[in-house]
Amino acid sequence: MTTIGVEITLAPEIQNLPLVCRAAEGSVDLTQRQHFVYAALRAMDKLRFTRPLPWTNQSLWGWFSGLRPRILVKASGTTSCGPCFPGGAPFPGGATLNMLVTSDTPINWHNIVQFLGALAHEARHIEVGHHPCEGIRDQRVADMQAFGVHNSVYTWVAEYIVEGIVTQSDRDAARTWACQQRSVAFCHDRCVSSSHESDLTARADLDTRIACSA
Ligand SMILES: [Zn+2]
Repeated sequence: MTTIGVEITLAPEIQNLPLVCRAAEGSVDLTQRQHFVYAALRAMDKLRFTRPLPWTNQSLWGWFSGLRPRILVKASGTTSCGPCFPGGAPFPGGATLNMLVTSDTPINWHNIVQFLGALAHEARHIEVGHHPCEGIRDQRVADMQAFGVHNSVYTWVAEYIVEGIVTQSDRDAARTWACQQRSVAFCHDRCVSSSHESDLTARADLDTRIACSA
C-alpha cells in the first residue's frame, strides 16, 4: 500500500485477517492493523508543534517520509530497523522498519502517539545506527540517538503540540512515557520529576477516529 508514499506491508501471519476497509466501498483494502498504521502515518502528517523538533528542522512527517522507509507490520517478535547501521545514509534499497502491532489496536491519539514514538525511534536508526550504550541504550536524551528521538516525540507532544490536536490526558500520558523511558533507556539520564506520574490508563476515548479513506 503506497497511497501516502510509505510502503506498508504485513507479515505473513497477519496477511489474511479480515478487512476493516474495503476497496469495494471506495476505500482501499485494509486489515485493522494496517488501518491503524495508515491512520498513524496520516496523524503524523497532521502533528504541529510550537517549537522545532530537536533533531531535525523539518516536520516530523517531512523528516520521516524523507528517509523513504518501508514499514513491515508484525504481530510478534521485536521492533527493529534493517538494514540500519552507524553513519548509514538512507539505504539505496530503502530500510525496513519492523513494527510490532501485537493486537488489533484502537485508532486514537493515545495509541498513535505511542506508536509514532516507536516509529521515529526505528527510523532514526537509519541515520545514526545502533544504540551506543551496551548496544541497547543511549547515553542521554540530548544526544538524539534513536531513544532520544523516541523520547522527544513524547516530550514534544506533552509540551509543545499545537492546541486542539490531542487532549490533555494524551499530553499527560506522553509526559509520563517520556519520564519513565528516560529512567530506563539511557545510561546517563534519569527522570527526576515525580509530578508527572499521572495514571497511564487515563485517556480520552477515541477523540480522533479516522475513517476509512483512500
Ligand atoms: Zn533501537
